[in-house]
Amino acid sequence: MTQSTNLQTDFQAILHNLEAARGQSIFLTTTQLLVWASKIFERAGLSSQDAMIMARTCVYPERDGALSHGLFRLPNYLQTLVAGNVNINAQPTVVQETPSLLVVDAQNGLAQPALQTVYEQLVQKTRETGLCVVLLRRAFHIAALWMDVEPLARQGFVALTCVNASSCVAPAPGTSAVYGTNPMAFACPREGHEPLVFDQASSLRARGDVMLSARAGEEVPLGTGMNSEGELTQNPKEILKGGALLPFGGYKGASIAMMVEILAAALTGGQFSWEIDRWSQPTPDTASAGQFLLCIDPTVAGQTMFAQRIQDLAQKLLDSGQSRLPGDLRYTTRAKTESEGIKVDADLLLGWYEQTNTGVNTSG
Ligand code: NDP
Repeated sequence: MTQSTNLQTDFQAILHNLEAARGQSIFLTTTQLLVWASKIFERAGLSSQDAMIMARTCVYPERDGALSHGLFRLPNYLQTLVAGNVNINAQPTVVQETPSLLVVDAQNGLAQPALQTVYEQLVQKTRETGLCVVLLRRAFHIAALWMDVEPLARQGFVALTCVNASSCVAPAPGTSAVYGTNPMAFACPREGHEPLVFDQASSLRARGDVMLSARAGEEVPLGTGMNSEGELTQNPKEILKGGALLPFGGYKGASIAMMVEILAAALTGGQFSWEIDRWSQPTPDTASAGQFLLCIDPTVAGQTMFAQRIQDLAQKLLDSGQSRLPGDLRYTTRAKTESEGIKVDADLLLGWYEQTNTGVNTSG
């Protein structure tokens, strides 16, 4: 039996289970959810290969309890695909290459499939030369960044990545948005443990969190953002309507946002966050942004005990009172959901499936 037949059979079984669970929540395995989400992406016009990559992009954070970038994002992807704001027929192209550099034009397609096209080259160049940098431009990235570096740490590498996004963050001090929420993620191996990974936005709060507060009628902490007059406000609606978010840690966080902007936009040849015309669009998430990814092989640098040294550092941090290391919560949740399944709303999943019945605009 071919793999596609298996996937189709599995899909029909999941559909049956979801239909039976209408109006309720249901537990699915990670694999079942991947089959489901990839089917939806396929129905929205993606190739089966890209559909599975994007399914992982939504399902893995859901599995890890990182809900702000899990299935919650699937409707954003569908809206964007339906609106034709992302080129689903993009053929990512390496436009510049050296022994340790890959410059990739994603042609306004999805970032994750574009990165996948050079993944093997990235690994090979890193092993051969000790490091490799990928500079990706004109890519659509609204996902959690840890997924782009954790697999590299599992191969023994140190990896650092960052992306820019549509502007909604002011510098500090500043009165108008210049930066995107500009996240960065770092990962490296840790002997005897899961890789050490951190992944964080440059803004004090994610824009999605501010939107959720606005919807709930709640105030946000002072320092989250400012209104259109450049005055600090705790009213999330004022921040979202012509105001701006603020970086974490004042000018120090602003410098991190600036560095991300330089690495992900100026260095890749992509658009600065303030050049990305997103908020004027009728549909959300039209960012054609840039991504920087650096991968280093510590063994080529002569650090054959690197992972053990990281474990020594981690232990020292825990001994000194740090309650947990970044990434630990995701790993704990991952272990739990891998054994218990992922709880999903049957109506929500069926709704997305039905939504993709109507077809999409496939132009780029
Ligand atoms: P969080 O503030 O939730 O977490 C940031 C990091 O801190 C994580 O690595 C987290 O690990 C760690 N952490 C949290 N609490 C502790 C603690 N008590 N001790 C030690 N470490 C801790 O992330 P953000 O809200 O800043 O970002 C959320 C997600 O949004 C990220 O995945 C980011 O990539 C994504 N994002 C994507 C954008 C895009 O355009 N693609 C734009 C902006 C954000 P743990 O995971 O274990 O909790």
